[in-house]
Amino acid sequence: MKNRAMRIYFDHNATTPVDPAVAEAVSRVMTDTFGNASSVHHFGQQAKGVLDEARSALAALIAAEPSEIVFTSGGTESDNFALRGVAEALEPTGRRHLIASSIEHEAVLVTLRALARRGWRTTLLSVDQSGIVKPEALAEAMTDDTAIVSVMHANNEIGTIQPVTELARLAHGRGAVFHTDAVQSIGKIPVDVRALGVDLLSLSAHKFNGPKGVGALWIKRGARVTSVMTGGKHERSRRAGTENVAGIAGLGVAAQLAVRKIAPESARLGSLRNRLEESILAKVPGTAINGAREPRVPNTTNISFEAVEAESLLIALDLEGVAVSTGSACSSGTLEPSHVLRAMGLPSPRTQNSIRMSLGAGNTEAEVDFVVSRLPGLVEKLRSLTGARVRA
Ligand code: PLP
Repeated sequence: MKNRAMRIYFDHNATTPVDPAVAEAVSRVMTDTFGNASSVHHFGQQAKGVLDEARSALAALIAAEPSEIVFTSGGTESDNFALRGVAEALEPTGRRHLIASSIEHEAVLVTLRALARRGWRTTLLSVDQSGIVKPEALAEAMTDDTAIVSVMHANNEIGTIQPVTELARLAHGRGAVFHTDAVQSIGKIPVDVRALGVDLLSLSAHKFNGPKGVGALWIKRGARVTSVMTGGKHERSRRAGTENVAGIAGLGVAAQLAVRKIAPESARLGSLRNRLEESILAKVPGTAINGAREPRVPNTTNISFEAVEAESLLIALDLEGVAVSTGSACSSGTLEPSHVLRAMGLPSPRTQNSIRMSLGAGNTEAEVDFVVSRLPGLVEKLRSLTGARVRA
């Protein structure tokens, strides 16, 4: 077993390490600011001050008004809140149709299925091998009873950026509400909610060096959304439950850091990712990039290795101290082929021989070069075990 210091983490789309400044804020607030933010006394007001500060920091990151932000327990809750909340709010209008893309995260796809069981008609937009939703596909799928369209900003498995501005414009043209799951774009590329033109946007702190179990749903002022978490009057009566003050403080610090770091980090990670990608394509025969290369978030690559079982390669790399993924964290550990690669129409060997590498703060050129130096040998060994022949 190698010691931890030698380990290389290329799985930042699953989760990111907490920035030391975030950890410090969480720990300080947890010990010093234990008040309930709803209490009128000093302790409560101190906690409310922490929430206000974090709300402003997050609003600055996405160019929103602080009052439009509702803190949640993370991306999954925000997606549920957006879809279930709008569905309930719009049920009296008679609109009963929901559209999402077929490459959404399970937090959206499984919620859609739950709404389908409640009588909602649902449509999944297919994508081609680019992994990008075509606006024409949305235009064709919409009807007069379409209530909600939900298309993610950046895909978690292949990193492709969806044409959200255009899709939102189309949805609005038919009177539908537009939600985007921006869990994988926040902190990686600039996000401006007004420029995107969406009504609701989900985000999660642990994907940009914040703590796990905390996130937010941005709700455009005036958008009709019914609370899903009912109870007290927290978060302007939009999400009941005593706020996770320490976690939210951590989210606020992560947002502040992201504002400062996004431009230099996205340039740095983009060139590291390209170096990794180009070197693998050049040095390992039978490799190909999955999905369009642009537009993509700068940290992500998804590569297929012909005649190699992805899980075996993942384990071989882990034994070398390198952490990668075979898809979304939720589905790894099962041998299920990626629903994203399948939805893109990739043939079945390719949906099962693909590896995602997602870079982040702390990754270096030396780490990229180490991985590139190990991969050809590992792949050759795995292929020789099954007797596979791959043309160079
Ligand atoms: N949406 C996307 C695109 C994701 O990648 C994830 C996390 O993997 C989620 C939603 C869920 O976020 P959370 O882990 O905060 O519940």
